[in-house]
Amino acid sequence: MPTRNHSEDSCPGVLATHQAADGAVARVRVPGGQLTAAAFRTIATGAAELGDGTIELTSRANLQVRGLADGVELGTRLASAGLLPSATHERVRNVLASPLTGRDGAGFADVRPLVEALDEALCARPRLAGLSGRFLFAVDDGRGDVAWLGADIAAVLTSENTAAVLLDGEDAGLRSTVDGAPALMLACAETFLTLREHEWRVAELADGPRRLAAHLAGPPGAPRRGGAEDDGQAAVDRREGTRQGVGLVDQGAGLVSLVAGAPLGWLDRRQAAALTATGAPLVITPWRRLVVADLPADRVEEVGDRLRGTGLLLDPGDPLARVTACTGRPGCAKALADVRADAAPVPGTTLPVHWSGCARRCGRPRGAVVDVVATGHGYSVTEGDR
Ligand code: SF4
Repeated sequence: MPTRNHSEDSCPGVLATHQAADGAVARVRVPGGQLTAAAFRTIATGAAELGDGTIELTSRANLQVRGLADGVELGTRLASAGLLPSATHERVRNVLASPLTGRDGAGFADVRPLVEALDEALCARPRLAGLSGRFLFAVDDGRGDVAWLGADIAAVLTSENTAAVLLDGEDAGLRSTVDGAPALMLACAETFLTLREHEWRVAELADGPRRLAAHLAGPPGAPRRGGAEDDGQAAVDRREGTRQGVGLVDQGAGLVSLVAGAPLGWLDRRQAAALTATGAPLVITPWRRLVVADLPADRVEEVGDRLRGTGLLLDPGDPLARVTACTGRPGCAKALADVRADAAPVPGTTLPVHWSGCARRCGRPRGAVVDVVATGHGYSVTEGDR
């Protein structure tokens, strides 16, 4: 499978890798963060055999393979495993979803089928290949954990059968049935492409949410504009999502999920191999954690011990589980420090802590965070929110 250059948008994919200081980086889109055991095995084996063995978890619940010598072979393997359903749309398949949807009993409904429908319909519309690789969709099952994580277009369930579609986190009154949500979301994305000039994100479009909603009002069958009296308004008003913490989650019926933190958001070879050996489906979360799902309760101790033995973080009180870091030196040419070597918990705070090698703060989590930024003469430490 050939590689290609993408001159306008440098956001990497698998077919258009990013050349970092430590080799090529391929970003594998994982809609909804959902991976079968076989799919994760393909990625982990590819990382070990073709890259430096590292797998990076991103804040959009995607995966990055680093230190690649042969991106073409990785693309071929991922395509064979069904992880590249569209060569033209691979970089725009950015879809967050509530990581525990359908498993822990929270939320109004299991939104995994909705994510699949959205992804399939997205790839079937040629024009949407023109979205930026940074454009982000989200599907929230109503618990409010991913709807406000910076998505350009988010569907949040307001009941078992209804959804609100938010634009850049704002409620502009767009409503649909749950089944109709993917079509409405993609209509919003196409309208964005119609209205934009050079903007890549809805947030960059002047008065974007209102203009998009106004443009959409009235087309046959589609959205209706709702008011404050709409069912589920309280769900739409909620702004504070809950980060899924590490540890055990009861799924009922004798099954459990183990939520594991990846130290600084990266997996090494041993950790990836241990996750592969569980044979369990995995869910990547936007908080750089992995849900090892659908485990029979009598396997939890054995699996937990094995994962813990590789350095994965399973204890809810572990302060390292709240620490993330960008690539830093030597992988990033812009870095002023080897932040991954320096990164550590910051005493006296319960907020997430993000270490950055320069002021760009790549990979910084949403919300209130302690920002530790390399200055060339040490680090600045501030509290910020976005
Ligand atoms: S924050 Fe700066 S140093 Fe870190 S990855 Fe981004 S550009 Fe590189």
